[in-house]
Amino acid sequence: MTSKREVLISGGGIAGPALAYWLGRYGFAVTLVEKAGGLRGGGYPIDVRGTALEVVRRMGILPRLRAAHVDMHKFTFLDVSGDEVAVVDPRLIDGSVAGQDLEVRRGDLAEALHAAVGDDVEFVFGDSIATMTETGQGMDVTFASGRRRTYEVVIGADGLHSRTRESVFGPEDRFHHYLGHCFAGFTMPNILGLAHEGVLWSTPGRAAVLYAAGDGDEVHGFLNFAREDPPFGAFRDPAAQRDLVAATFADAGWRVPDLVAAMREADDLFFDTVSQIRMPAWSSGRVALVGDAAYAPSFLTGQGTSLALVGAYMLARSLAVHPGHEEAFAAYERDTREFVTLNQAHVDGGGSVMFPATQEAMDRRDAMLRDLTADPVPMERPAHSALTLPGVAGEPADGGGRWSFHTVPAGERS
Ligand SMILES: Cc1cc2nc3c(=O)[nH]c(=O)nc-3n(C[C@H](O)[C@H](O)[C@H](O)COP(=O)(O)OP(=O)(O)OC[C@H]3O[C@@H](n4cnc5c(N)ncnc54)[C@H](O)[C@@H]3O)c2cc1C
Repeated sequence: MTSKREVLISGGGIAGPALAYWLGRYGFAVTLVEKAGGLRGGGYPIDVRGTALEVVRRMGILPRLRAAHVDMHKFTFLDVSGDEVAVVDPRLIDGSVAGQDLEVRRGDLAEALHAAVGDDVEFVFGDSIATMTETGQGMDVTFASGRRRTYEVVIGADGLHSRTRESVFGPEDRFHHYLGHCFAGFTMPNILGLAHEGVLWSTPGRAAVLYAAGDGDEVHGFLNFAREDPPFGAFRDPAAQRDLVAATFADAGWRVPDLVAAMREADDLFFDTVSQIRMPAWSSGRVALVGDAAYAPSFLTGQGTSLALVGAYMLARSLAVHPGHEEAFAAYERDTREFVTLNQAHVDGGGSVMFPATQEAMDRRDAMLRDLTADPVPMERPAHSALTLPGVAGEPADGGGRWSFHTVPAGERS
């Protein structure tokens, strides 16, 4: 029998493995259950910026991520006819700090996190939580596979449409703030021969993006469109998603028909709404949420992954420092919420640059881009670094010497 504190994490995306890493390092017995059959690659690039860089540095994966950095040289904006509006340095529009912030393929980050976690954490792929019951001793969990086990706490790291959140806090629509757009992302042939660059075609309320993270034969295609109501009916129906996107772009010019055709063929289509999750509390009893499940900021902020990494660090540290889950969850929320709120607030800037909804907004955007090209001024985002991470629990301030955690009985330490 283990005397370690047992934690179940639901979701093996970004927040889940990052949390598993830190809890494992603090001596918890961690099980991570992921409903997909294996690690979900998905190659589109994501940003790791500001405070989140310090998290990955402390995990020892910064050199690996630096080597995987996607060095984007330019972003070209096109008008409805495919003529060039402006060519900009991508860092000028996304608030990244040159030479510091990272952009890596999501799959590269997922693999680096997974490799860092090591063998101490029990990964269970192809399973999920079926039922949870809180008792005085812990959370009794039954899995879809029929397995049963009791954990001290359960953490939902299962993304924007979190089942954990739904089962403990109620239906998604209470917390889901739809930002008026839907998008489809997929891998497609590099039809324009792009290298380390992005190209964005747009009309009011619609945009088609080709994003070449490298100079290979494949690029990431994105089709983004404004829509008054979220298409809830399409969420669990890939054929309906494809039809909806194709119908929305049916009369579009430039190379959009090629993107639509590629979207229809893609085997890695990722369709979702552009939305935020905003919750009055991130925990209830023995269950807490982390990452998109608790506070998805939407890709318009470019901060989803960074919030997931920072949230995972803060939650693990709080659990390591506080012997009781109630104090731990309260500390996690108290110390992290302001950072989340500041970063969620950056949504308007992203939307108006990438996806203006009206012709007037588009004209304003184009004028701004031309000014930016003539007189480059980086848009700094202090929110990215607004949280100074507390030290690693149990580690001496000088970083040397022995580790010691109250969660690991002395006899079990190596
Ligand atoms: C394959 C993939 C592609 C993505 N593409 C985009 C994109 O193009 N644009 C964008 O803005 N964001 C995208 N995201 C979301 C983005 O990765 C997150 O915003 C961000 O990284 C925060 O990470 P997270 O760990 O909180 O959530 P996520 O990265 O979404 O991870 C959640 C994980 O939980 C798993 N899961 C879900 N339900 C259950 C369940 N019931 N039981 C067990 N596991 C469950 C999922 O399979 C997933 O692995 C994508 C996510 C995935 C998984």
